[in-house]
Amino acid sequence: MSAALPGGPSLPQERRLVTAIPGPKSQELHARKAAAVAAGVGTTLPVYVTRAGGGVIEDADGNSLIDFGSGIAVTNVGNSAEAVVARATEQLAAFTHTCFMVAPYEGYVAVAEQLNELTPGDHEKRTALFNSGAEAVENAVKIARAYTKRQAVVVFDHGYHGRTNLTMALTAKNMPYKNGFGPFAPEVYRAPLAYPFRWLTGPENCAEEAAAQAIDLMSKQIGGENIAAIIIEPIQGEGGFIEPARGFLTKLVEYARAHGIVFVADEIQTGFCRTGQWFACEDEGIVPDLITTAKGIAGGLPLAAVTGRAEIMDAVHGGGLGGTYGGNPVACAAAIGAIETMKSQDLNAKARKIGETMLPRLRSIQEKHAVVGDVRGRGAMIAVELVKPGTKEPDPETTAAIAKACHNEGLLVLTAGTYGNVLRFLPPLVIPEHLLTEGLDILERAFEAHT
Ligand SMILES: *Cc1c(COP(=O)(O)O)cnc(C)c1O
Repeated sequence: MSAALPGGPSLPQERRLVTAIPGPKSQELHARKAAAVAAGVGTTLPVYVTRAGGGVIEDADGNSLIDFGSGIAVTNVGNSAEAVVARATEQLAAFTHTCFMVAPYEGYVAVAEQLNELTPGDHEKRTALFNSGAEAVENAVKIARAYTKRQAVVVFDHGYHGRTNLTMALTAKNMPYKNGFGPFAPEVYRAPLAYPFRWLTGPENCAEEAAAQAIDLMSKQIGGENIAAIIIEPIQGEGGFIEPARGFLTKLVEYARAHGIVFVADEIQTGFCRTGQWFACEDEGIVPDLITTAKGIAGGLPLAAVTGRAEIMDAVHGGGLGGTYGGNPVACAAAIGAIETMKSQDLNAKARKIGETMLPRLRSIQEKHAVVGDVRGRGAMIAVELVKPGTKEPDPETTAAIAKACHNEGLLVLTAGTYGNVLRFLPPLVIPEHLLTEGLDILERAFEAHT
């Protein structure tokens, strides 16, 4: 297997199938997995990866698959991006860990400076670094509670914020995230989301009506003066790439400002050029008080952050935030390399270009196949929602069949959504145009075969 190294952008950018998917070596590894790894840890597509880079993933059998998943919106800069590898390698050789809370280092500070500069708003900001998205969201809640001296947290239908105890409470969907794992943390309230495709009175009044219902819940059931934070994904990720109807977010921000509530944008999936902007909330000119980031931040190394208004971030007592590994020096070096890559390769423009290629193709699939109820998304965060033709009844079976057909043809796609009826596409932003087109051709053939 070592002869297969290295991966990264120099990997041949081609789809290549030399065995069935998964091939014999992957199947053997998967049997070992079943015997050694806890059953609760699932896998979407059991091809065992040996190298990856650009727009492809190579497996143990020598297949090369087109990647429309980016490890769930993580490898925005591609796998083993040059600047990420160079900076992380240099850092590995210098030192691997001191614990920032014990003996600090520049990389952590440099990442904080970058985040303070790149996130929306010109106000004075501070950043704290963590290991995972869920940990960042938990800390945003801690910070908001410390600042407001209030307890209630408001989240939304279809929202996803992680798998730890507090973030399970914040997450909407029961299976597989919450089922059997309670009791959950108290003082979490769920409000309706302005979901245009599924709003009962239609998309036109969705923003206004959903905001009115959410505000009614906040003012009548909780009391605005009891709310520490409103937490929302500017485009919902696991919920099915739901873009809240325009105006909804603005109304929530206005309510938060009027009642001294900390407005938290969870940009863990949408951040770092994914939607064609550094952060998705920029699209509506939203300036969050706190913003949580992770996934795309460090080109594949585990790192997460909370960034926000200095007076809010600094409300926590010394020693109240942290963790042994938070802001690990290698992950920080990788983040600096990833951000450098996003700037030097203008990945915001690349993400917009991907959207411009994908959306028209998907809309033409929608015209031919009534199973496609909705096509949506921004930049390189694009999805189709599948329904029983002529209705809005979710069709998770066809969704799964199409995903499987794509996998068999060497195209890695992911599903999502409360009803499991959304195909979501998150290609690396550095994917070559010909692979994007080939992936869409495979998808179109899958629709032709299964609907
Ligand atoms: C993935 C995700 C999380 C959780 O991040 P982990 O790193 O898996 O803990 C939280 N919020 C959103 C919006 C996410 O997409």
